[in-house]
Amino acid sequence: MLDLLIRDAKVVDGTGNPGYTAHVGVKEGKIALISRSDDLPEAARTIEARGLVLAPGFVDMHTHTEYTILCHNHGITSLKAGVTTEVMGMCGYSIFPVNETIRQEAHARMAGLSQVSQSEVGEIDWRDLAGWLDKVEHVGTGINVLQYAGHGGIRAYVMGKEGEGGEKVIPAKEQLDKMKDVVLQCMEQGAFGLSSGLNYAPGRNAITEELIELGKVVSSFGGSYISHIRSEDEHLAWSCSELIDICRHTGMRGSVTHHKAFGKENWGKVHHTTYLIDQAREDGVDVMCDFYPWEYAAESNIGTSFYTDFELSRRDSAELRGWLTDEASWQSLKTRLKQTGAKEALATTERSRQLAAHGVLASAGGRRQDSTFIVHAPAYPELCGLSIREATRGLGFADDTLEACRKLYLDNDGYCYVAGGKIWEQDLRHLVRYSRSAISTDSWTMERAPDLARPGMSSHPRAYGSFARVLGQYSRDESLITLEDAVRKMTSLPASFIGLRKRGLIQEGYWADITLFNPENVANLATFDNPFVYPAGINYVIVNGEVAVDDGRPQYTKSGKVLRFER
Ligand SMILES: [Zn+2]
Repeated sequence: MLDLLIRDAKVVDGTGNPGYTAHVGVKEGKIALISRSDDLPEAARTIEARGLVLAPGFVDMHTHTEYTILCHNHGITSLKAGVTTEVMGMCGYSIFPVNETIRQEAHARMAGLSQVSQSEVGEIDWRDLAGWLDKVEHVGTGINVLQYAGHGGIRAYVMGKEGEGGEKVIPAKEQLDKMKDVVLQCMEQGAFGLSSGLNYAPGRNAITEELIELGKVVSSFGGSYISHIRSEDEHLAWSCSELIDICRHTGMRGSVTHHKAFGKENWGKVHHTTYLIDQAREDGVDVMCDFYPWEYAAESNIGTSFYTDFELSRRDSAELRGWLTDEASWQSLKTRLKQTGAKEALATTERSRQLAAHGVLASAGGRRQDSTFIVHAPAYPELCGLSIREATRGLGFADDTLEACRKLYLDNDGYCYVAGGKIWEQDLRHLVRYSRSAISTDSWTMERAPDLARPGMSSHPRAYGSFARVLGQYSRDESLITLEDAVRKMTSLPASFIGLRKRGLIQEGYWADITLFNPENVANLATFDNPFVYPAGINYVIVNGEVAVDDGRPQYTKSGKVLRFER
């Protein structure tokens, strides 16, 4: 007897091959049967799926879910998007091994991204990757999760952060050996590979040779490398070449993650980078990319945009992030902005003085005001789509950006969003069509979608609508790629790159991670104006054989697994 029988679905199996109508049976968490015959075994439950596509559950190649999974462990926002497996530990961040600095930073980031207090996060009581994975397993998870080791975090663990020695370009021999030991330990404990963030501190301080040395350790296990490369604008092509070199010298598979070219001067460069990737592949270097299909790289509350030049990855980033997401801080900013001008409001506390020194006061004359756009301002709908500079003039403030931002912040009661890092629609379409690109969100799982971002909270529609947008808009409506190819980019392509065992395809004996969606109406509904909206048309999501989204309704199951890399 089957646990579950899904009848008359159009099976799009993840290979990219044409879909076909069949019945799919699930038993003990695995796909037990794929049949076109109506002579079927009994099943405890049957789902009639005529008109629905049955695909492998989507794999999100780039998340920061390690910061939210303890507090949001049912993974509802991911499941509602059709995602069943998430890659954690991207951009070089690492929450292991733990020392005092990493403990504090992890605690603050977890509270900030999870939107809870630090005490609600609980103790950071793991010491290494093994302990961390055990912890997640103990809490339980609604989605499958897996972990990469973060180069930046490991560098900071061994060498200290910037200002503590981490700014060294070349580690001493003992330091490099220590880093290799840590990477080795992570790989032994189940990491799938190494991630890096080479435009963040301290990853940006590492030269290519350091990454090659660490990569050799990863490669000896058969692991892979996912990199937020050094530059996504001016030096994009060079940065892709660096990733290719690292993979060429180590034998690691590599992905240029959240691939994009932002800033008008750089639009079109993804044609060059995908050419570089293709050339490398012809030479036998196994590289690819992943991307999120959105026209801006970042969205934030206009309050945080005061500080966009201030680097969140500096030494005191934990403190800053806590401050940015703390309601009381925002209320006090609002009060100060009401009582005084913007400059004076920013200068009232030591913290604010630091922010002001690195933030908008420094950048007010810079090009950011031309490359940051208003996307949500209920009090001024006519300003939406305008740059900060244009909006400043529109409000009659001439060149006083700071006062314009103050007015926008107050008149919208703190609910004014801006977006920056403009990406060219034609580049997105190129990446959709490019055969070696997977889909990712660069986001993190949550228990529910909030109504609207509160001040200080990170927001971007990519968390909700990335997969549905490719299926609905780019595949169905614009016919840029076939449905089958779109599904391949979300399933077998990332699964085989990462090295997932028996996931990413609809095949007998594979784990029953399944997403059933309606190809007629699957659609992204999230926008920069209102980012927290679930996609339409994702009807059922099954994780390891259990129905986690049932006719659109989340079931709060915890049938996800903590995956560990097997050589
Ligand atoms: Zn990144």
